[in-house]
Amino acid sequence: MTTYTDDSLRGYGHRIYERDNFTCRYCGVDGRTSFDVWLTLSVDHLLPKGHPLRDEEEFMVTACKFCNTADNHYFTKYGFSFDGMTPDELVERRRKYVHAVRQQYCAFWEENVKAISQ
Ligand SMILES: [Zn+2]
Repeated sequence: MTTYTDDSLRGYGHRIYERDNFTCRYCGVDGRTSFDVWLTLSVDHLLPKGHPLRDEEEFMVTACKFCNTADNHYFTKYGFSFDGMTPDELVERRRKYVHAVRQQYCAFWEENVKAISQ
């Protein structure tokens, strides 16, 4: 079997996607529904660079690429502490910031993309 050690989708991230049912932990998009959706999956680190637990698998979750990069100054912007929280608590805390950015993009899409395609 070929191994894809440098490759998130087929390699190191695959176990994390499987654990999370190939579903973005922030928006719920499901990579099992189509190849196109699966291509958007990525590994999201719940802890900032330099944190000793950052690269532990339990502190990495499945996120679509948009949610992974939405509000990407999250680690420094709000002055949060990241110690002593469970992975689920970290996801819950970040989700509302990700959703706020998604809603701004949705409004743009409705005005500038959807409106001209009808
Ligand atoms: Zn998402």
